[in-house]
Amino acid sequence: MIPFLDLKLINAPYQEAFMTAISNVLTSGWYIRGNECEAFEQEFAHYCGTKHCIGVANGLDALILIIRAYKEMGLMSDGDEIIVPANTYIASILAISHNNLIPILVEPDINTYLLDPAKIEAKISSKTKAILAVHLYGQTCDMDAINSIAKKYNLKVIEDSAQSHGAFYQDKKSGNLGDASGFSFYPGKNLGALGDGGAVTTNDTNLAETIRYLGNYGSQEKYHNLYQGVNSRLDEIQAVILRIKLKNLNNENSFRQDLAQYYLLHVANKKIILPHYRSQQEHVWHLFVIRTENRDPLIKHLHVKGIETMIHYPIPPHKQKAYMELSSIKLPLSEKIHNEVLSIPLNVSITQAQREKIVEALNSYEG
Ligand SMILES: *Cc1c(COP(=O)(O)O)cnc(C)c1O
Repeated sequence: MIPFLDLKLINAPYQEAFMTAISNVLTSGWYIRGNECEAFEQEFAHYCGTKHCIGVANGLDALILIIRAYKEMGLMSDGDEIIVPANTYIASILAISHNNLIPILVEPDINTYLLDPAKIEAKISSKTKAILAVHLYGQTCDMDAINSIAKKYNLKVIEDSAQSHGAFYQDKKSGNLGDASGFSFYPGKNLGALGDGGAVTTNDTNLAETIRYLGNYGSQEKYHNLYQGVNSRLDEIQAVILRIKLKNLNNENSFRQDLAQYYLLHVANKKIILPHYRSQQEHVWHLFVIRTENRDPLIKHLHVKGIETMIHYPIPPHKQKAYMELSSIKLPLSEKIHNEVLSIPLNVSITQAQREKIVEALNSYEG
């Protein structure tokens, strides 16, 4: 069986470096808010091209804290609205509703599965405060169009970069394409830790400071609390792991891009719709998502051929029990996408023999 994702294999090349680094953290006696987190924050800000990076506990917290900070800064309040693609992972929506703001779901582009700028303006009201641009599957959104709408209506642009570490939009990277960006370092992401981790990147110094305080109990200075904050921090062990893997992120992304090109070039089956992408640098292929009208037989065919697949995602947010209040919204494109998408293995542990086997299996599917 070719597993969809084998994290043990993916982390194996780093084992020796990890052991040394973890041992150094252990003997340093300093485990939270130390030099490793600070060094990672500087390196990741530099990587993204932003002034600031704030390590937090996970990707969901990164997004929650961005919106929370805008509230503390007086720029957003309860009941305000944020535009978000209807087909995103649930975390993007949770970040909005956890802050008592309203997610306004917008249908994506059926070819790229990304936020469709042409559908945004009709959804803007006097309560709209931001656009949450999710770089879903690893491809950056059409940021020129999104930023110009935001400028016209005086909205913040928040990026969800949980799947797009290192992806460019023109000459800038994910994390530096709006007002603030949330990253996840969940183990399976393009830059993955050995546990939970996340970060916010931004060029807004005021926002960065507010997020830093909010993530540390709202404390500006030890035992002085400016806000009713939370505890959301990136620990030293995760930071040191991320520092090691960040050095190799571009290589890993290149491997992904090369593998994606291989699939795009060799898969030829009228029953399978291949992913659309704008340019090499603008997609880091967190997921390689194909689409087919009748998905179950394809899953079965691939399974019989020894290939594990996954669905990202089987149920759209507005059809989740957690969001009953959104269930009556008509989102036929999103529903179609959720019914038809299928992710095939694309990661740095896929061998030449495995890529050939995956292509052969896809091409031999007769539906
Ligand atoms: C993974 C993910 C998140 C959440 O990250 P966690 O670290 O798991 O909290 C948010 N948005 C998207 C699009 C994701 O894929």
